[in-house]
Amino acid sequence: MFGKLKEKLKSALSVFSRKAEEQTEEKSVEAAAGEKKEAVLVEEKKVAPPAVKEEEKVELSVATEEAKEEKSIFKKIKQTLTTKTISAEKFEELFWDLELALLESNVSVEVLEKIKDDLKKELVGKPLPRDVQGKIEETLKATLTEILDFEKIDLVKNIRQKKGKPYTIAFFGINGSGKTTSIAKLAHYFQQNKLSVVLAAGDTFRAAAIQQLEEHAQKLGVRVIKHDYGADAAAVAFDAVKFAEKNAVDVVLIDTAGRLHSNVNLMQELEKIIRVTTPDLKLFVGESITGNDCIEQARRFDQLVELDGSILTKADVDEKGGAPLSIAYTIKKPILFLGTGQRYEDWEEFDREVILGRLGL
Ligand code: GDP
Repeated sequence: MFGKLKEKLKSALSVFSRKAEEQTEEKSVEAAAGEKKEAVLVEEKKVAPPAVKEEEKVELSVATEEAKEEKSIFKKIKQTLTTKTISAEKFEELFWDLELALLESNVSVEVLEKIKDDLKKELVGKPLPRDVQGKIEETLKATLTEILDFEKIDLVKNIRQKKGKPYTIAFFGINGSGKTTSIAKLAHYFQQNKLSVVLAAGDTFRAAAIQQLEEHAQKLGVRVIKHDYGADAAAVAFDAVKFAEKNAVDVVLIDTAGRLHSNVNLMQELEKIIRVTTPDLKLFVGESITGNDCIEQARRFDQLVELDGSILTKADVDEKGGAPLSIAYTIKKPILFLGTGQRYEDWEEFDREVILGRLGL
């Protein structure tokens, strides 16, 4: 999982630091040559005989003056060389491979810009660090740590602590993103934590979606509230909440339609669901592998319903690894978990350190 980004980062970072160091190597060769000349001049001064003739004295003093002058030039050169910095222009050139590696790994342009800005702040106009690669890695880690820094949502705790049942979670995402599977995975997880669950078949737009949710409900032994295909989705969600209130069910998981192409209708439908059920949590479900599409969907659903967090599915088949970073940065909300397969137990809680570790940082 996420192996490609790690690989690409590694090679891009080493190219960046090698190129940057090549620049310093050139400088230190010149600086070293300066130092050598300086040493020779000092040496020459030392061996000068204590007693000299008048005319020789004049010559010597001229030589000493010249030596002094030369010495200060070398000193100056040395100073400018050792304090040589990466120019903004040079930085752009050096950043190119890293930029390409990040873009190819589904890292969004916004995240890329943030990484670039942070690196620029550390490298441009400052003395080149001794360990360039180390410095870049450290900066990159700090940037990604910041991007993935959000408060963890402890679902089971939140559900248990809520005054009055049920705790309602609505799921948003386009068809095929893994919404139904993720709902089933969470239902299973809640059951394991001794919490009762009811499902709401709120994607009334697709008969297959209702059927699919029913199949999961049957397997898990949970109740599903459904109306006929084409019915009012908000009415389904409302009924599910009423059912939960009446039967003291802990959690209601609401499936919704995901046809982003008919935006206006969908917006009205989702708004209505939210109005009548006031969900405790609104989660976006997106496919990790789809990269920029997934980020765009997250952005649009966030505009529609103001999301509280996201679930990234199919992380098991995502080699690239840029999606979690991009989603987190786009909607600035936590990623709750990663779907890692088709079985109910195939998911892992999102852990920033684990992700950074997978990226080799
Ligand atoms: P929905 O249309 O959004 O409800 O999507 P589904 O839940 O039906 O999922 C679409 C397909 O993706 C199904 O074949 C799922 O088994 C599969 N799927 C869902 N989550 C994952 C995951 O985390 N990993 C993998 N490999 N497949 C998944």
